[in-house]
Amino acid sequence: MAKTYFYFSAMNAGKSTTLLQSSHNYKERGMETLLFAPAFDDRFGDPAIYSRIGLKQEAILFDKNFNLFNFVESKKENIDNLRCILIDEAHFLTKAQVAQIIIITKKLGIAVLCYGLRSDFIGEPFEGSKYLLAWAEEITEIKTICHCGSKATMNVRIDSAGNPVKSGSKVQIGGNESYYSVCMKHFIEEVGSIQEYALEPIGAH
Ligand SMILES: [Zn+2]
Repeated sequence: MAKTYFYFSAMNAGKSTTLLQSSHNYKERGMETLLFAPAFDDRFGDPAIYSRIGLKQEAILFDKNFNLFNFVESKKENIDNLRCILIDEAHFLTKAQVAQIIIITKKLGIAVLCYGLRSDFIGEPFEGSKYLLAWAEEITEIKTICHCGSKATMNVRIDSAGNPVKSGSKVQIGGNESYYSVCMKHFIEEVGSIQEYALEPIGAH
């Protein structure tokens, strides 16, 4: 039975490269794929997923009102042997869209591979990742390392002066220049938000 897979990592671990390689593997075996990416990404106007090592494939852009199940169901008849859906920046999915993905796997029998971050640059979980971690049947970490050599699990956003950003919009996403990934020790040292949460009084939320 087709399943939902969630491949999570910190920034710059090669998620898009892994996604494009997986799509290529399906196609090489005569199975078709559909790729999706969030519409507000800096790819807007050029609907494709790129990897930093030069791979590229066309993608369908989705916003928060896009119904993934309805779209895939309507396309399925016209695509011969559609076997796999791949979603880049899957942390930007809504709860409803993660539910639609689960239904795609079970009602349409198509595997869905999601690639995304767990938490944003102040350590808060993304909605899409929260529900993917809860509902995906297969969860795999794509590993990358901190500047200290430990496994990186957190993301730091830097401003134009190179300083860590400690509040603001989650929407900006991009390449190497504005984010880097760190281990928890260095996230606490450089951003501090987890340490602040530890000091909140019981019942503050
Ligand atoms: Zn570190």
